[in-house]
Amino acid sequence: MQYQYLQQVKDTLEPMKPLIETTRGFMPTAEGAALAYALLNCQLDLKLPAVEIGSYMGLSTLYLGAAARKSNRKLISIDHHHGSEENQAGWEHHDPSIVDYVSNNIDTLYAFRRTMNLADLERTVIIVVSDSKIFSSIFQCEIGFLFIDGGHGEIQANSDFESWTPKITSGGLLAIHDVFENPKLGGRPPYELYLRALQMNYREVISEGSLRVMRKN
Ligand code: MG
Repeated sequence: MQYQYLQQVKDTLEPMKPLIETTRGFMPTAEGAALAYALLNCQLDLKLPAVEIGSYMGLSTLYLGAAARKSNRKLISIDHHHGSEENQAGWEHHDPSIVDYVSNNIDTLYAFRRTMNLADLERTVIIVVSDSKIFSSIFQCEIGFLFIDGGHGEIQANSDFESWTPKITSGGLLAIHDVFENPKLGGRPPYELYLRALQMNYREVISEGSLRVMRKN
């Protein structure tokens, strides 16, 4: 389905258009639109927050934040903001312009916060600067929606899955990015998480590019 052409999705994403076009990140339009559609149609208690793991500079957060704002839900966006393994120097997705010259670490927090401010999402998106597992250990609420797009290495991806999926309420949604069936197109861990969810009590509801969304029974 072409979610970006649905009126509901178009209306929701319209105010974000200029920012979506200029924010750096790894979220194709069709997949971002599908993500927004999934959150818009989540239909669970609005007190149940949505959670995003992996904010980077906020491109996917623009899609999710727009949907959260439209449906009056809060989105918690978690990232340590030091970049994933694949963003570090010498790796494919490294961007030297986001390395802090004093600490010599990647630091995406400033860019992310600026994106949220320009998008007028500061009352919708709760920014959490933390390792996702550490934060999960003290976060004891149920959640309605989980988007996993943090570190794509095996250890980090599995840790995100194990620490956050138990918090998804019955009927809630689990979205995973960068799911590639063909190993030539991308790394294995997100695909393995997807298979793992299907073997549990999750049923696929959306497949768009490398985005998969599943509903928990
Ligand atoms: Mg991704």
